[in-house]
Amino acid sequence: MSTRTERACMLCGIVQPLKAFISKGCPNCDSVLDMKADDSLTQDCTSPSFEGQVALCDPSSSWVSKWLRIDGFQPGLYAVKVNGKLPQDIVDDLKSKGVVYRPRDGSAQD
Ligand SMILES: [Zn+2]
Repeated sequence: MSTRTERACMLCGIVQPLKAFISKGCPNCDSVLDMKADDSLTQDCTSPSFEGQVALCDPSSSWVSKWLRIDGFQPGLYAVKVNGKLPQDIVDDLKSKGVVYRPRDGSAQD
C-alpha cells in the first residue's frame, strides 16, 4: 500500500489525483459518468489500487492504446490494471447508455 493520492478511473483507467476527478471529472467518461463534484460517486468509480502506468501521448496511433482498448481517449497517464469494480447500479446505468463496462482488474475474458 502507498499513500499516493492518485486514483484510476475504473471505466477507462486514466490516472489522476482524486482532487482532479472531483473538480473536473474524468476527461474520458464525463459524458456517461458524471463524477464531478460528487465525492462519494468519485470514490465509487475510481480505485486507489492500480498497477502499471502507461503514458498515452498520441492515442490515435499508439500500440498501447490498442492494447489497453483506449483508442480515442484523451492523452494522459493510464493504469494497466485497476483493482476493484464499478458498483452494479452504475454498471446498469452505463448499459442503459450503451456503454459496455469491461472490468480492468484482469477478470474480463476475451
Ligand atoms: Zn474514466
